[in-house]
Amino acid sequence: MTEQPAPPLTLSHRAHLKAALEMAREAVAAGSSPVGAVLVNEQDEVVARGRNRVGEDQTAEHVGGASVAHAEMDVFFALGKLKNPGKLTLYTSLEPCLMCGGASALLGMGRVVWATDDAWGGSGRLIKWADHPAMQATEVMACPYPDLEAEGARLFAPEARRAFPDEGWELWRKRYPAETQDVEEQDAEEDQG
Ligand SMILES: [Zn+2]
Repeated sequence: MTEQPAPPLTLSHRAHLKAALEMAREAVAAGSSPVGAVLVNEQDEVVARGRNRVGEDQTAEHVGGASVAHAEMDVFFALGKLKNPGKLTLYTSLEPCLMCGGASALLGMGRVVWATDDAWGGSGRLIKWADHPAMQATEVMACPYPDLEAEGARLFAPEARRAFPDEGWELWRKRYPAETQDVEEQDAEEDQG
């Protein structure tokens, strides 16, 4: 196993997380789930952008129309074989699930940064990345900016309500009470109507 230096800490984390959130909005507009991702090299340049495509048709260029068509997989499939993955940083609008977290570790990403925790579907609910033997090389940075964290939570809240079972929504309500409040109130109104 070769030791790879970690990506520099001086990357524009905030700008890249904003770009991931922008991709998440693009995904919603296209009929998919609100999750976006960007991959950044050690020169602080975006080398790939991706977004969730679960709700869309498959094309020759992109995996789509399948429940595994997550934003991070979109990024990885777009790039093919990665050179120096240990120097890359993956930014996502939402904490990666087990599949995408596993793929990031398998590919040897230097760092993964996300805007917002996923209290139900995020891999952190099930495993601590730092404890997983295959994930030792990947540094994890969760929710570094409270305002972007809240923005990501508000963006994903309707999808969390729709897609996650009762227990999952309860976890989301507990983790992000203010950001899920509107969705909860809309639900209550519909129940009454
Ligand atoms: Zn995923």
